[in-house]
Amino acid sequence: MTKTKAGLIAIAVLLITLVPMWVALNAWLKHEQVLVEQAAGNDAMNLAIAFEEHIQSVVRYADALLQDIREDVIEDPEDFEEVVKEELQVDGNMIAQIAVINAEGRLVYSSLGPVDKSVDLSGREHFQVHLRNPSHDKLFISKPVLGRVSGIWSIQFTRPIVAEGKFAGVFVLSIPVSFFTDVYRKINVGPSGLIALVGKDRVPRTVASKSGHNTVLDGTVLSEYEPYFDNANPAEGVYRGASPFDRVDSLIAYRRLEYSELIVLVQLSPADYLSSFNVRRQFLLFSATVTSALLLAFAVFLYFVSRQHFGNAAALKQSHSALRKLVSVDLLTGARSRGDFLEAMETEFSRAKRHGTELSLIWLDLDHFKRVNDTYGHPVGDTVLKHVGTLCSGVLRAHDVFGRLGGEEFGVILPQTNGMDALDVAEKLRLTIEQAIIPTERGPLQVSISCGVAHLLPQGDSPAQLIVRADDALYRAKHAGRNRVCAASVNETMESPSRPADSKT
Ligand code: GH3
Ligand code: MG
Ligand code: MG
Repeated sequence: MTKTKAGLIAIAVLLITLVPMWVALNAWLKHEQVLVEQAAGNDAMNLAIAFEEHIQSVVRYADALLQDIREDVIEDPEDFEEVVKEELQVDGNMIAQIAVINAEGRLVYSSLGPVDKSVDLSGREHFQVHLRNPSHDKLFISKPVLGRVSGIWSIQFTRPIVAEGKFAGVFVLSIPVSFFTDVYRKINVGPSGLIALVGKDRVPRTVASKSGHNTVLDGTVLSEYEPYFDNANPAEGVYRGASPFDRVDSLIAYRRLEYSELIVLVQLSPADYLSSFNVRRQFLLFSATVTSALLLAFAVFLYFVSRQHFGNAAALKQSHSALRKLVSVDLLTGARSRGDFLEAMETEFSRAKRHGTELSLIWLDLDHFKRVNDTYGHPVGDTVLKHVGTLCSGVLRAHDVFGRLGGEEFGVILPQTNGMDALDVAEKLRLTIEQAIIPTERGPLQVSISCGVAHLLPQGDSPAQLIVRADDALYRAKHAGRNRVCAASVNETMESPSRPADSKT
């Protein structure tokens, strides 16, 4: 029982310590992950804002240039080539080509060199847009196209040329896709992140990533269900979802540009921005596991230590009861010790009172025992005492209590026995001792005993009074000549047949 209790205490200590630790750790990790997600979302949106600024300034600059040179084409065609040359010297890395297409869709000028007038560009989207609506002088930004003359992927910024109120062609400024991607590739969006410029027509214009893949440029059209294509959604936002390019789980910030048909996207990979958090998390989980294991080991240790302790306590209890038994028995005679006898006296007295049963007490003493010692020596006296103890025990019933009260004096508690029966028992004891021939190293000896008998009075009695009455009766037996039994009845003294007072030593 106590062992189980110790084990339960150990387990309780373990649970009380571990449960809150794991709960707190779990909550803290969740909270920390939310913070990291938020920080990554802010980063993505800040990059998108910077990206938007860059796009806007490039668009504004390209458009201003476009309008400047177009004016020259119209006003002074002679000087046109000179102007273009100068511009190319200034903005050569940004401009892939400056071209002019006439009203029939034929390429009539290219900054890249002499043109083949038969090249028909009337099918190009920008040409069609401007041809259909020449009066609407609007900047058009094309999808990425592979230049037939330049051989490089570029985005074309175009405006219509109108001469004397009539559509006269299209002015084209080509900016290489690499002009954007080279810049964005330098921005750190993590190993798996990317920056993209997408048209509202769902066709990507540029995509830049660390890995540098540009596979999306030839005819890829993004899903119409991407949130930024839906005008019902806010013009800017951050969300966690599938990448529009490879469907991998990503954190995406988008911004729809105000005056053009473009959307900027910054896509970050959770694998990147959560990597240091994941390392920290693994470390913490590892530490918590080690701590738990140590606590568990400690609890097991505690369990075994307490088990041993309680085991020792049980052994102690056992040896204590053995010791108690030892002191409760008189070693020489085998009778109960004085303390144990008096304790039994209290117990039997209260039991008799409680149940209203009879109880008697015999007080007995060896006659002239001093003479035995004096004549034969103390060891012979011991032998005689031992035999008397054994003889008395043999006469008594199992539930009678036989005790040595000191020296050569003994007591017998007789439960459920009235005074008359107790006198019979005392007489039987007396007769047994008188008739016994005790063998000793000094030859056989005979001794006698005197007995005083008292019984429980119906009212106003106590164990002490019972003892006093028995002792008084014994005293009277001695004085009446020894080797006899005296009852302690209040007015009468019952004596056994008169015998010579001397012991037969
Ligand atoms: P009475 O008939 O009046 O009782 O005389 P008695 O000699 O028996 O009584 P007394 O009290 O004068 O002497 C008791 C003797 O018992 C004294 C003591 O030496 C002896 N005695 C007491 N305990 C022991 C014991 O354990 N062993 C031995 N050998 N003798 C003991
Ligand atoms: Mg005596
Ligand atoms: Mg005595």
